[in-house]
Amino acid sequence: MQFHLNGFKPGNYQVPDAARKPYPNPPIEDLPGEVDVLIVGTGPAGLTMARQMSEFTDIKTCIVDMTPGPLLFGRADGISCRTIEIMEAFNSSEMVVKETYQLKQNTFWEPDVEHPENIKRTHKIADARAGLSEFTHGIVNQARLHELLLDGMVNSVTNLRPHYSRELVDLEVDERLTQDLDAYPITATFKRSDKDGAGKIETIKARFAVGSDGGRSRVRKSLDIALEGDSADKAWGVMDILLNTDFPDSRVKSFIQSKDHGAVMTIPREGGYLIRFYVELDLIDKDKRASDIKLTEHDLIAKAQKISILINLMLKKWRGGQSTQWANASLIVSTTAQWKVRKILFRALLCLAMPVTLTAPKVVGA
Ligand SMILES: Cc1cc2nc3c(=O)[nH]c(=O)nc-3n(C[C@H](O)[C@H](O)[C@H](O)COP(=O)(O)OP(=O)(O)OC[C@H]3O[C@@H](n4cnc5c(N)ncnc54)[C@H](O)[C@@H]3O)c2cc1C
Repeated sequence: MQFHLNGFKPGNYQVPDAARKPYPNPPIEDLPGEVDVLIVGTGPAGLTMARQMSEFTDIKTCIVDMTPGPLLFGRADGISCRTIEIMEAFNSSEMVVKETYQLKQNTFWEPDVEHPENIKRTHKIADARAGLSEFTHGIVNQARLHELLLDGMVNSVTNLRPHYSRELVDLEVDERLTQDLDAYPITATFKRSDKDGAGKIETIKARFAVGSDGGRSRVRKSLDIALEGDSADKAWGVMDILLNTDFPDSRVKSFIQSKDHGAVMTIPREGGYLIRFYVELDLIDKDKRASDIKLTEHDLIAKAQKISILINLMLKKWRGGQSTQWANASLIVSTTAQWKVRKILFRALLCLAMPVTLTAPKVVGA
């Protein structure tokens, strides 16, 4: 399939560039009063959880996000073969395989030993380990992956759609009710931000809440759960570009290491024209975030040119940001977390019929 000749355009790639429209926003509806599972966040973690929950008519699920509608431009566009296996389980892998740029090979460029001011290709290897999966790793707009999950939810027996323009402002757990299988111990408070309902406060009672609301999770903060682990101290600039270049491996995933200026990774994008550049930037101070570094496309292209010496990069169009890489992990964590939630819910339903006490954690972080 060929698309994006004139730059990136979101929506269904089966529709030609000129006619393609963004995925539609669902109508604004009131939040339900009580649900079994409340999912906060429609990133890859939340949507994977919701897609799975949508298959069960006996579990009432609600998924909420503070953004006005579905994602249009992806960030996590590298799709691992394990993620495609999960989409296969949702019966949506064919579209992913058809639309992705399939990564099959990596090339490596390093400073030439005799002329270290130049770089040369040192070797080529297969991308995914042979036998790892029936699928390859691939590149496709993260928003397209979200659309396949959203389509699966809306076409499921529960006809599940996210509620957008709702920001979670508080989440409380009534500890006295956590052992009562009939109870809804969680109270979540949301503030609406759509034109007609701006500022309106809504509450939902839930039996389980899934905090898939990203790195600065309000769910986590409301429950006073400390962030475990560390943030990265290395930033990478990311840009998707249409470019004229004499780089011979521009349609192969390539690692380019320079002598003095760091590294660049280039990955061809779906559609046959765009290329993603990951450009190694400086170390970030411990108290700063990657988004604190203010960069323009000119800074990134200048750095890429310094690293890829002797390669001609003529930028035509670009779209960029700063990056970390964990969407694929989110999908996998959600796939296992939903098993745990459903297992406890189904046991709870069974226990209601046969009075037995069940000790269950009520909040799941995806
Ligand atoms: C430029 C860039 C490139 C990247 N490239 C890759 C890549 O190639 N591969 C990869 O695996 N990862 C990549 N990542 C990382 C990836 O985007 C994240 O790891 C992934 O999105 C995390 O998924 P998530 O569902 O946990 O959270 P998020 O995607 O952050 O989603 C959280 C959602 O929660 C919503 N939300 C937050 N707070 C609230 C609130 N209070 N109330 C209601 N809703 C709320 C947000 O609006 C958002 O929709 C990249 C990131 C960036 C920035």
